Amino acid sequence: MQNIPLNIGVTGENGSGKSTFINAFRGLNDGDDGAACTGCTETTETADPYLHPRDANVTFWDFPGIGSDENRAAGYTKKVNLDKCDFFIIISANRFTENDVRLAKEIKKMKKKFYFVRSKIDSDLYNEKKKLKTSFNREETLTAIINNCIEGLQDAGFESPQVFLVSSFNIQEYDFPLLQETLERELPEHKRNALLMTTPITSLEIIERKKKDFQAQIKYYAAASAVGAAVPVPGLSTAVDVGILIAAVTQYVHGFGLDTPTMKRLAVRTGVSYDDLHGVIVSPLAAAEITKELILKVLATLSGTAFLMAAEEGSRFIPFIGIPVAAALSSFTTSRLLNYILNMLAEDAQRVFTKAFSQ
Ligand code: GDP
Repeated sequence: MQNIPLNIGVTGENGSGKSTFINAFRGLNDGDDGAACTGCTETTETADPYLHPRDANVTFWDFPGIGSDENRAAGYTKKVNLDKCDFFIIISANRFTENDVRLAKEIKKMKKKFYFVRSKIDSDLYNEKKKLKTSFNREETLTAIINNCIEGLQDAGFESPQVFLVSSFNIQEYDFPLLQETLERELPEHKRNALLMTTPITSLEIIERKKKDFQAQIKYYAAASAVGAAVPVPGLSTAVDVGILIAAVTQYVHGFGLDTPTMKRLAVRTGVSYDDLHGVIVSPLAAAEITKELILKVLATLSGTAFLMAAEEGSRFIPFIGIPVAAALSSFTTSRLLNYILNMLAEDAQRVFTKAFSQ
């Protein structure tokens, strides 16, 4: 499940905010290693790939706009190899253009999903506020923008288009969280894991959804640990268990954005210092390198665990009956430990999110 690729196509006119969106989705700030160049005027003819910093299976493709030339449009789909993407985000900083619509129709022909994103909403609100002063109404302005986009797309032949209002400078606001939820819901099951793993934390609900997803996978880790325990070689059961714990815990830490590089980037983006963000963390597993030693240290602090491990170790050497008993115990221990650690890390993620965005 952890090796399934996810390819996300992002397209729109030059200057519409594609690069900034791709960076925001990956939790990167301008100038970070691997960040797409924003505000760059040069146009490429091919699609540029941008890998997710924590998961090389997830790639964002920055597609050049389709252009208005009919001949170019005809060869476009093949030339840029649109087919490789699982779904597409079509971005516009204004009403969607004829070119955006033309591209959406090409994507539809390929029976793939696409989502319209109206970018730079923060700047629209700012301008409207300057213009209307005391009569400014945030909700009315947002409704007017979305209606304007929807009408344009309906005129172009889309019956009930869905448009998401986004500011890549504040992804926790406006419709970005709704876009994340929609993508999660509409992606095929086997791809959803890759998205959930890498999707940025923009709300407490996302933390909860990630936690549920991780919880649903615990049975696989527990089963793997049962297989390991069933092999009657002294020491192997515990060694296999720790390896499994490292894999699972690393996934949780990354998924919740609790690894040090992600937290440092969050600090830069929000202006809340890294020390302040780190200060709300309780678990020793967050913002740390997940090693065997660290896992064992944490396990030693959990009451009852040592007993379960000892019981498992002893039972494996009782012929016939011992092996199934050890397998069940190992599976139970792994499952119990992972649930405990998952809850602890989810709570840390909530505290970090609240600290980062509540000021
Ligand atoms: P691209 O050519 O489509 O890749 O567009 P860029 O991502 O390079 O963005 C073009 C310009 O718009 C840059 O100056 C960005 O800083 C700015 N921009 C992009 N997204 C936003 C946004 O959500 N809000 C605001 N205010 N500016 C944005």
